[in-house]
Amino acid sequence: MAAGTVSLETLVAWLLRFTRLVTENRGYLTELDSAIGDADHGSNMARGMTAVMEKIAATPSTAIDALFKQVGMTLVSSVGGASGPLYGTFFLRFGTTAGAVTELDGAALAAALRAGLGGIVARGKAELGDKTMFDAMSPAIDAFDSELASGAEIAASAAVAFAAAERGRDATKPLVARKGRASYLGDRSAGHLDPGATSTALLFQALSEGLA
Ligand code: ADP
Ligand code: MG
Repeated sequence: MAAGTVSLETLVAWLLRFTRLVTENRGYLTELDSAIGDADHGSNMARGMTAVMEKIAATPSTAIDALFKQVGMTLVSSVGGASGPLYGTFFLRFGTTAGAVTELDGAALAAALRAGLGGIVARGKAELGDKTMFDAMSPAIDAFDSELASGAEIAASAAVAFAAAERGRDATKPLVARKGRASYLGDRSAGHLDPGATSTALLFQALSEGLA
């Protein structure tokens, strides 16, 4: 395999790490969601990703678009909360943009991530500072792009993206939510991390660790 590419197997390893991380952090994500939502984000993500891994094991895909179509459809159908359709659309668009291939180079991975973010925006209309998963994902993808553009390897770029996702997550704490269930609380949503931004930081942690 050429240097500087990510294989379908590595992308499956990314999904598996994400599943492990949301499962390990199920209680924490739910605790965050109990402060500004309805206390289900941890169970939504753990249940959804467990269903994804079962689906992948039962019907393995031979191309990246087919793999992420399975992932996205499973999340949309198995998670009741907002996060199911949002992460589901992220993975569906990721797959469509990646295409019927078995590996991605850095630019193709960046384009797939960017398209996934576009799917979240198309569905949820979030902007920077609305206190959502967008606040972790958008800076992470920007950082990934600029590291790659400066000549860094994919794994190193993913590590920088993870750090940016964590900063984006932390920056949601003082914000007043303008989208989703937390926005019903108005000013009372300030002072708490956004649960979806926290799970998105785990998504980039999984990517970084999966590529390292
Ligand atoms: P629900 O809010 O339906 O209970 P979850 O608790 O699983 O669903 O997910 C909540 C997370 O979804 C929030 O923390 C936020 O990050 C994200 N979210 C909610 N609405 C939007 C939106 N319109 N755009 C982007 N992300 C959103
Ligand atoms: Mg919730």
